[in-house]
Amino acid sequence: MGACWSHGIEAVTPSYTGFNSKNVSRDRNDMSSSSGKLSSASMPMTPRSEGEVFQACNLKNFVFRELKMATKNFRPDSVLGEGGFGSVFKGWIDEKTLKATKPGTGIMIAVKRLNQQGLQGHKEWLAEINYLGQLHHPNLVKLIGYCIEDEHRLLIYEFMPKGSMEGHLFGRGSHFQPLSWHLRMKVALGAAKGLAFLHNNESKVIYRDFKTSNILLDSDYNAKLSDFGLARDGPIGNKSHVSSRVLGTLGYAAPEYLVTGHLTFKTDVYSFGVVLLEMLSGQRSIDKNRPSGQHNLVQWAKPYLASKRKIFRVLDNRLEGQYSPDQAQKAAKLALQCLALEPRNRPIMNDVVKALEELQEPPRS
Ligand code: AMP
Repeated sequence: MGACWSHGIEAVTPSYTGFNSKNVSRDRNDMSSSSGKLSSASMPMTPRSEGEVFQACNLKNFVFRELKMATKNFRPDSVLGEGGFGSVFKGWIDEKTLKATKPGTGIMIAVKRLNQQGLQGHKEWLAEINYLGQLHHPNLVKLIGYCIEDEHRLLIYEFMPKGSMEGHLFGRGSHFQPLSWHLRMKVALGAAKGLAFLHNNESKVIYRDFKTSNILLDSDYNAKLSDFGLARDGPIGNKSHVSSRVLGTLGYAAPEYLVTGHLTFKTDVYSFGVVLLEMLSGQRSIDKNRPSGQHNLVQWAKPYLASKRKIFRVLDNRLEGQYSPDQAQKAAKLALQCLALEPRNRPIMNDVVKALEELQEPPRS
């Protein structure tokens, strides 16, 4: 997970993870090509009582003892990663009965355990169940079940063997292999499809925390969005936005959102632009270790993205020779459009999907 924060408006908690504010400008997103499904047609998905959330989703309610067995008692060597919610453990269950099995048999799962001292709490845990229990799409991670027992709060997901996109872009060490141009474009397309599905007329959900650590990858580098703790229903009726306190992750928030606390679908599009830029450059959106003037990737890179001759200063030099000048220009143009200061000048996610589909040619030999 990247460094998250809460800013201005209602919440000012400098060391907090994530930001939270809403305001949605209604875009007409036709997702007829999407293969996603809503298991419940009734909207909005929030607010709901806890009982309603559990009833509306078709998820297994796991017993804590069972999860203890499945993860070998939450042993440190079962840890897959750490996030704002708490640790994520590897586990094994039977595919049919969903009962804990011996490691190596049945199917692998990821068990997210709420850290009581953590930055996210019960509300985010419930939001994840509310959204992922109802929204189903190949580019959203599959939630299998949950556990609520005494003080324990856990979430059980399909296992994503390649971990998060963050690790594949910014990993370190001698064995680290940065992702190729082709795979970066594949991941960008999958993630864009996930966001487009959330924004479509049936779902109307603003994701609000789009970043590389929330893009998980299956064994074939298919991207799946995870972490719906900060997601919000989009505006309904003739409302242009939803409003609330500003929460999110430093470096990914749209400028107008920070100023007004208004959350719109276009706020997600801006965050997508930041992630696309991170993928193209191989650089984190915020990095104080870079030379002065380059700490903020968007501010530094934007002038170069606008120039056909200069975009190569921004592109990850580890990708040299893997893309054509035309591909580089198209991808840079798309990032720039998503990062437009005026929300109305940003494309809708369906158009982002179309643009990325044109950038999927296999690597040149
Ligand atoms: P999160 O709390 O969602 O940010 O997850 C923290 C880390 O745990 C991620 O960056 C991944 O490395 C790992 N992780 C989370 N969910 C899964 C999953 N479903 N499968 C495999 N690894 C996961």
